[in-house]
Amino acid sequence: MAIYYMVTLIVPKIVDKDHNKIREKAPYTVSDKANTIYNSLDFIADMHCDALLWKRNLLKDNDYGQVDIPKMLRANVGIQAFTIVTKSPKGQNFDKNTGGSDNITSLYLAQGRPTNNLTKRAIYQCEALFDFAKKSDGKFRVITSSLDFKAYLSDKENNKNITAGFLGVEGAHALDGKLKNVQLLFDNGVRMMAATHFFDNKLGGSAHGVNGEGLTDFGRQVITKMDELNMIIDIAHCSPKMVDDIIKLTKRPIVSSHTGVKGTCDNVRNLSDNQIKAIANSGGLISIAMFEQAVCGIDAAATANAIKYTVDLVGVDYVALGSDFDGSVTVPFDVTGLPLIVEELINLDFTEEEIQKIMGANVKEFLLLNLP
Ligand SMILES: [Zn+2]
Repeated sequence: MAIYYMVTLIVPKIVDKDHNKIREKAPYTVSDKANTIYNSLDFIADMHCDALLWKRNLLKDNDYGQVDIPKMLRANVGIQAFTIVTKSPKGQNFDKNTGGSDNITSLYLAQGRPTNNLTKRAIYQCEALFDFAKKSDGKFRVITSSLDFKAYLSDKENNKNITAGFLGVEGAHALDGKLKNVQLLFDNGVRMMAATHFFDNKLGGSAHGVNGEGLTDFGRQVITKMDELNMIIDIAHCSPKMVDDIIKLTKRPIVSSHTGVKGTCDNVRNLSDNQIKAIANSGGLISIAMFEQAVCGIDAAATANAIKYTVDLVGVDYVALGSDFDGSVTVPFDVTGLPLIVEELINLDFTEEEIQKIMGANVKEFLLLNLP
């Protein structure tokens, strides 16, 4: 038993530190101009972060990891999507994976979390976020409806010292193959879900899988149920055929929560020009990630370049940030380094109004319109 407790205390932290590195530690310095613009931003938002996977106490200002609530408050983050990973293949790579193996089982075991089924794994992370909110002295809220969101926005006008998150799921294998679990996850607070993650699942093909397939019958049923519940559909990690099928099936706006674009970084996962146009056409969001494999660069400039490419293609109203903080990737900075993105957007001649939209106003508007 002593060994069990030692393992659950020490191992998760070692794994967390090792998986979620930062190239440059805070504090970050930017020009006066970038600082002034950052401080004037009405709303800062990010569409993807896997911090709940790591059993890190997000109420603490941790000296490792990329996001926690004190850092979100320091960065004046308006909302962060907290996305839930339930299964990831051993030897995970960008090109070819199957669902035959899983890293999360051993991670969950080491964390002392229940491993029994993927839906329960997801619900465990949902409960963790609500628990942080409960213990945050009112500083952190989990947003589950547009009504919640409006109340939060109005409170935030008078109180800068509050922040918020909403729940997403990364890969609908978290349904454990059961349609009724869409409702169950919804009831546990999930408001966004990506069809696939790193391997093909019962819904269809992953960008990193083996079959390259589009939506299966089950996949269609899941998307239809998500439409019915107004759950946001995320196409990050989907095979190109899945993306096309989903766009054809739903009439609601589509989100890509954390990718790059082929125009600046050509790989199997990044969005083609046609996909970017289709997402914009749906009234959705193209949220640009901040790690090397997504943007083919290791700094804020690479993310800003992908943003510029997207804006040049479809205009500024559909672009957002989707860092992939704490998603087993090395990022240039933790969440308090977001002013570095503003600096690079200034360097690319974006206006203040455009920077406002990219840094979060687009997400704010999207959530007001699309949360249930
Ligand atoms: Zn991901």
